[in-house]
Amino acid sequence: MIVVMRTDATPEQIQHVIQLVQQLGMKAHPIYGTERTVIAAIGSKRDEYRQSLASSPGVDSVVPILAPYKVASLEVKRERTVVRVGPLWVGNSHLGIIAGPCSVESEEQTLATARAVKAAGATALRGGAFKPRTSPYSFQGLKEDGLKILATARAETGLPIVTEVMAATDVELVASYADLLQIGARNMQNYRLLEEAGQSGKPVLLKRGPAATLEELLLAAEYILNTGNQQVILCERGIRTFETHTRYTLPLASVPWLHQHTHLPIIVDPSHGTGHTALVPDMAAAAVAAGADGLIIEVHPNPETALSDGYQSLTFQQFAETMDLVRRVAEAVGKQINAPEPAEAICLP
Ligand code: PEP
Ligand code: MN
Repeated sequence: MIVVMRTDATPEQIQHVIQLVQQLGMKAHPIYGTERTVIAAIGSKRDEYRQSLASSPGVDSVVPILAPYKVASLEVKRERTVVRVGPLWVGNSHLGIIAGPCSVESEEQTLATARAVKAAGATALRGGAFKPRTSPYSFQGLKEDGLKILATARAETGLPIVTEVMAATDVELVASYADLLQIGARNMQNYRLLEEAGQSGKPVLLKRGPAATLEELLLAAEYILNTGNQQVILCERGIRTFETHTRYTLPLASVPWLHQHTHLPIIVDPSHGTGHTALVPDMAAAAVAAGADGLIIEVHPNPETALSDGYQSLTFQQFAETMDLVRRVAEAVGKQINAPEPAEAICLP
């Protein structure tokens, strides 16, 4: 259930309710909004608890939650979450653009891509150092050497780094370089990893599993939110269907559906979602038109020679053209790409 505090509730009253929730054997998740605080009380449906909470000083109302996901629910927090990582702002009217190679292959390749995507207007650099590959014989990533290359690219361009962490035991290492931890589609239901990533304190980008429902995606997000880390971005990256024309099927209706059920921002990955370079620009534009809060796009200096996902990567020129298109759609739907000033917005965490 959700305890909605009055707008004039004092910090002591909020603290008292948190303690009362815990005494009643439930977990308390306070969410501090700009106007009011709400406290999600998780773990019991007993109606008498609802009554005792409702009579506490400073409490406005107590609402039962019907959805199985609680803290991610729009019922709990009506205010949209905006995840901010340096110049990357994702959520509400802010469109975050994360671009870069599928895999970090070399310093030269990564730096060239970082410069190109920044010049075209991207607000974060992606690049896999730990790669989840279907075949154990495929390129597995440069691991820590790849993270160091990403850090060099950040130092030069100021772009925050988005990179995947594949195992709970790697979170500490990856979080020591990354600004935003990516949990890949294959790991969406690796609950230990989700908790560990949440506890790192870094913002988390959670990709939808190719066979996961949206409810399962929100329940996975709940594992991260339950660690107290509110900085979660969801990513629609396509699901597996009977269709063979595209690598996955990219269901853009997920975007408005998620906006109607969660306060968390949702971005779209048109690269994995289609698996074909030629389809990426239009699906990027369509995602923004559908209300996406951002995009994650694969870009490579020479896709033909890429060690992973070259067939779905854009060249620098194609990415710049895609950005021109996306900018026009963004304007039409009232979103802005660049992080607003003041300067505090551009300090990396
Ligand atoms: C990636 O972003 O390169 C990746 C492996 O994505 P996904 O987890 O969506 O397959
Ligand atoms: Mn990829």
